[in-house]
Amino acid sequence: MATLELKIVTPEGPVYEGTVNSVVLPGSEGQFGVLPEHVRFLAPLKIGEAVISSSDGGDLYAAISGGFTNIDDDKVTVLADACELSHDIDVARAKRASELAEKHIKEFEAEQEEVHSLQEQQAALERALNRIQISGRV
Ligand code: ATP
Repeated sequence: MATLELKIVTPEGPVYEGTVNSVVLPGSEGQFGVLPEHVRFLAPLKIGEAVISSSDGGDLYAAISGGFTNIDDDKVTVLADACELSHDIDVARAKRASELAEKHIKEFEAEQEEVHSLQEQQAALERALNRIQISGRV
């Protein structure tokens, strides 16, 4: 069976490297799947879930916090702003981050603060909620 070589790297280092049957990624226009013999492709990623079907069976799930992917000749490289495999997610930390972001969003809305800061807090909330959701994956 044809396979893909998947690498997920972040500014802090590699998160995953292995041979996979397929991978589903959170494209900025929606989730998309990559199978062997995919056309060459460069795509932006948003905050969301990656589903990695490894060649030795079993799926792995990862929280992606945006970035890019490059697909070329059965090599899939994901350059993520941040990425955690589901079992590495610290749920208590993500809950604290979501509560803090929600608090800041309420304050910004009340005080009509800069839209830019509000957007930063909305992105922080989205990252935290994504991590909480994916931490429940097995
Ligand atoms: P926090 O406010 O908790 O730092 P954040 O969304 O601002 O959350 P990021 O800037 O996206 O954090 O990530 C910074 C680093 O911390 C990255 O290496 C990321 O993988 C890691 N990280 C962030 N949140 C978690 C979490 N809940 N569990 C495990 N690793 C996390």
